Amino acid sequence: MAALDGLPPLREVIQRHGLDARKALGQNFLLDLNLTQKVARAAGSLDGVTVFEVGPGPGGLTRAILALGAAKVIAVERDPRCLPALAEIADHYPGRLDVIEGDALKTDFAALAPEGPVKIIANLPYNVGTQLLVNWLLPGHWPPFWQSLTLMFQKEVGQRIVANEDDDHYGRLGVLCGWRTNAHMAFDVPPQAFTPPPKVVSTVVHLTPKENPILCSVDKLERVTQAAFGQRRKMLRQSLKPLGGEALLQKAGIDPQRRAETLSVEEFCRLANCL
Ligand code: SAM
Repeated sequence: MAALDGLPPLREVIQRHGLDARKALGQNFLLDLNLTQKVARAAGSLDGVTVFEVGPGPGGLTRAILALGAAKVIAVERDPRCLPALAEIADHYPGRLDVIEGDALKTDFAALAPEGPVKIIANLPYNVGTQLLVNWLLPGHWPPFWQSLTLMFQKEVGQRIVANEDDDHYGRLGVLCGWRTNAHMAFDVPPQAFTPPPKVVSTVVHLTPKENPILCSVDKLERVTQAAFGQRRKMLRQSLKPLGGEALLQKAGIDPQRRAETLSVEEFCRLANCL
């Protein structure tokens, strides 16, 4: 049965182009176009928006983004085997899909960003996704070139992204994301939704930039969170010793007996600003 967008079903596309999933590229494809639409919808309205998609693969999510009305999709894919399948989608939506063959980790997205609103949507191998997320948050100009990030992660990584203080998942990633963004988990996706299924549950995380994040040096914040969470079970007077220990904590007005996971983002920024 043909899909609603008039393009062939993804199973047929994958078979015709010999796109057997490669583990080394973290390839777990979404073949259900209702689900890819749900992921794309988590990004909010796409009217007049240019979407950067990372890792389009056979194009299930790409098709959803285009069907939902994105003005343009600029997709970066590392696997050249996917390019013919993506070219068929580009033919179906003339002028609305540009595919760049390359490694997203080496792509200068800010330089490619056009005038007008930009959103980023991706279903990526989680290690690449985490690194890209950090790259999009650091160091750069603020507000950033993107309006939102809608990214699929292993659920455990998603929990670390949205975590606040006093949460077991709270750590360096939670502080960084909480500092510069409002982040929430949109919905979970079970392993069996993917081909082949990964071992764990995935989750879609949606992040939007904070208008006025606390003024703070990225490098200093990184130094503080690295030291504090490097020894997360220890009291801060111990874990922050290399950065000034009790004197630093006193200057920031923070009890030296507290542990890293009890500090709010605001308190971490205060410590960084006292360094
Ligand atoms: N978006 C498709 C979907 O939802 O079905 C594919 C998702 S699959 C989890 C990850 C995709 O990212 C694969 O197509 C893979 O080839 C691509 N990929 C892996 N590493 C990449 C990188 N460093 N840069 C760009 N694409 C990458």
